[in-house]
Amino acid sequence: KTIDLDILTTAFAGIETIADPAQVAKLSQDYHTFSPVLVPKLEGKVGDIVVRPANEEEVLKVAAICAKYRVPVTVRGAGTGNYGQCVPLHGGVIVDMTRMDQIVWVKPGVARVEAGVKLAALDKQAREIGWEMRMTPSTYRTATIGGFIAGGSGGIGSIQYGLLGDRGNLLALQVVTLEDEPRVIKLRGDDVQKVNHAWGINGIITQLEIPLGPAYPWAEVIVTFEDFMAAAKFGQTLGNADGMIKKLIAIFASPIPQYFHALQQYIPEGVHSAFLMVAEPSLESLPGLVQQYGGQISYEKPAQEAGKGPHLAEFAWNHTTLHARTVDTSITYLQSMFPADTNLQLVEHMYHYFGDEVMMHLEFFRANGKVTVGGLQLVRYTTEERLNEIIRYHEKQGVQIANPHTYIIEDGGRKVIDPEQLKFKEMVDPYGLMNPGKSKVLQLKIKS
Ligand code: FAD
Repeated sequence: KTIDLDILTTAFAGIETIADPAQVAKLSQDYHTFSPVLVPKLEGKVGDIVVRPANEEEVLKVAAICAKYRVPVTVRGAGTGNYGQCVPLHGGVIVDMTRMDQIVWVKPGVARVEAGVKLAALDKQAREIGWEMRMTPSTYRTATIGGFIAGGSGGIGSIQYGLLGDRGNLLALQVVTLEDEPRVIKLRGDDVQKVNHAWGINGIITQLEIPLGPAYPWAEVIVTFEDFMAAAKFGQTLGNADGMIKKLIAIFASPIPQYFHALQQYIPEGVHSAFLMVAEPSLESLPGLVQQYGGQISYEKPAQEAGKGPHLAEFAWNHTTLHARTVDTSITYLQSMFPADTNLQLVEHMYHYFGDEVMMHLEFFRANGKVTVGGLQLVRYTTEERLNEIIRYHEKQGVQIANPHTYIIEDGGRKVIDPEQLKFKEMVDPYGLMNPGKSKVLQLKIKS
């Protein structure tokens, strides 16, 4: 269906819009560029106009206009998603939420924010009363809370608190529907799961209540190891050490640390490394553990200097891929979850089996009460066929892969969309306007 831009522009009068094609094209992008498979598939996909609501009232107006003219709607925060989640497949209106950046309130243990608030901004304000975000993606400086909840999975802090989808990591939210007469729906308790990680297909999130954790002074530490499996086992043991408070345990096999230019002097060529964020009171217990695994502490930055120099969090999670790609653009990545096994046998198997083609990057996090090892392995990409072969091999051996090389929700980490989310979708988006084309079951529904 062709979209009459004049009609839309007139209808949006009074609300900030961007129609300049170059800017619209820019705001139709995200970081799917990490995937050589997604790039050609999403090339040239752009919206028709960007609208930037300043408050919920304006979101309601935008929703009414889009429903009236049956225009596709792609909501975006900062556009740092990795799977083309906010690339519009069928043009239409891009709803940029970044002007809605009010922190409504912060109380001990919980904050209420508008969806466009940047994670770092909330963290800063929460710290003033001794609290902080429980977990942030490594993009915390730019990413929005709405985008993290709708498109992210976890990150720095997940070693303590688990993943975003875990019960308790999102307390409440409200969404604007895409009905003829849009409404604000408020969800609390388990009902929040109807919108959690829904990739912007289940209503426009306007506000959220996010639980906070106590703010610790976080020291940053690099430990180097001659042996990769010693580094991995050290990570698992530190993860399991419940008395030690930590926020990050990332393990990098050689040559990955060589991609981190700013840290080169702390990581000699050929060694493997662990990047850690540990609460300062727990630091004294660290050297003993490091020694037990034959490691060496090569860098230690006290919490007081957190604002100075490189921040280790910005080398971990998917920032590792970012740094590697600035050196070699043929590198891409996997997202995987290894079965709980304290001997890390499958990690060891994959490490040797693929050698330099799949470079090991491990992130430890909590899942269902257990410290689990995830992989964001770096892959030296050759062909899509080979990439799929690598993925299939992992799956056959029992490693779960959340494929980052697809923009279809069910083909990624989700596998199936929760029936409750689907029921909610039918109610809030009766015309199927929200981020169309991103879900298999919804595509089938629209066709039938
Ligand atoms: P966007 O990319 O703008 O949007 C993401 C999804 O949410 C889209 O589907 C969009 O439609 C939807 N959405 C956005 N706002 C709303 C709203 N208000 N209402 C409804 N739907 C909405 N992710 C992690 O989980 N952990 C990581 O550690 C991590 N590291 C990363 C490192 C790099 C270098 C990069 C490029 C990405 C990384 N990501 C990571 C992915 C991404 O940065 C995060 O998920 C981030 O939180 C997304 O926020 P955003 O504001 O950029 O969302």
